[in-house]
Amino acid sequence: DRIIAAAATREDDAIEASIRPKRLDEYLGQQPVREQLSIYIEAARHRREALDHVLIFGPPGLGKTTLSHVIANELGVNLRVTSGPVIEKAGDLAALLTNLQPHDVLFIDEIHRLSPVVEEVLYPAMEDYQIDIMIGEGPAARSIKLDLPPFTLIGATTRAGLLTAPLRDRFGIVQRLEFYSADELTRIVRRSAKILGIDCAAEGADEIARRSRGTPRIANRLLRRVRDYAQVRAGGRIDHEVAKAAMQMLKVDPEGFDDLDRRLLNLIIENFDGGPVGVESLAAALSEERGTLEDVIEPYLIQQGFLVRTARGRMASHKAYRHLGLQPKVRESG
Ligand code: ADP
Repeated sequence: DRIIAAAATREDDAIEASIRPKRLDEYLGQQPVREQLSIYIEAARHRREALDHVLIFGPPGLGKTTLSHVIANELGVNLRVTSGPVIEKAGDLAALLTNLQPHDVLFIDEIHRLSPVVEEVLYPAMEDYQIDIMIGEGPAARSIKLDLPPFTLIGATTRAGLLTAPLRDRFGIVQRLEFYSADELTRIVRRSAKILGIDCAAEGADEIARRSRGTPRIANRLLRRVRDYAQVRAGGRIDHEVAKAAMQMLKVDPEGFDDLDRRLLNLIIENFDGGPVGVESLAAALSEERGTLEDVIEPYLIQQGFLVRTARGRMASHKAYRHLGLQPKVRESG
């Protein structure tokens, strides 16, 4: 598995309980998001109403689940966590909704993967706190209306474009999470190190942060792997040299890229003459799914200017050539 995979592993989940921020002031970075949400949360509390439904989008590992925990904590209500693919039938969703207490938060991760039937149930639930469910079968079947307590739905998705328009329109609050700056990630690494009792010098935290692809989940994971290295090879302390040596062993380069990133850039340059090349061709050549390429691998490369997305496909930028030690191609004009 990729050390810099953005998806959560079992080990990530296991330590999550201790390092996941619980309050808005522990949720580092994402300044505009925090500022807006703190106002909406305070206003809802003041009016003694459920917070409006919230849609959070952004690449994996940037803190969507964490933010929903923080919102529920700040509101002083319960949080129920589920995900799109888990809710198979309309009845599953009905059971979740009817068990909520007033003002509770229901978090649906990967909300773009809800089935159309389940999505239909969600519309009146979000709009009027009501659901229509069918009971019985055949000629005896009838539909009954159930009232729900006022609640807040928080939906998370990796890309807003994956949502149907009717669903998207029903969220009053839409927030987009951005990749974190190196400074923000340094603060996150230092906070996690403190909680986990890891001896980590400022320059060590810095080095880990810079190679974490703007993603807190990756930063926390690299911190744990570098700790292992430090324990066995360096008496337990993570300083700059130790962080760099550990990262070299993990094959995470100074930009935070691993073999897969470098293979992708190399492929575009060597096999497709720098591009443009369609995403399907790239996915096939790398034996990766198109969705993984678009949601997990590409966003950071694009944000950092190594990859360019054009109408005709992906292109490698000059920065990508230089990173791989290659001479940028001079394009003929006309
Ligand atoms: P997502 O749901 O977007 O995939 P998570 O909410 O599971 O991401 O966050 C992944 C990890 O990053 C968790 O370990 C969490 O503790 C940490 N994390 C996320 N956002 C922040 C933040 N703003 N400040 C500190 N730690 C964060």
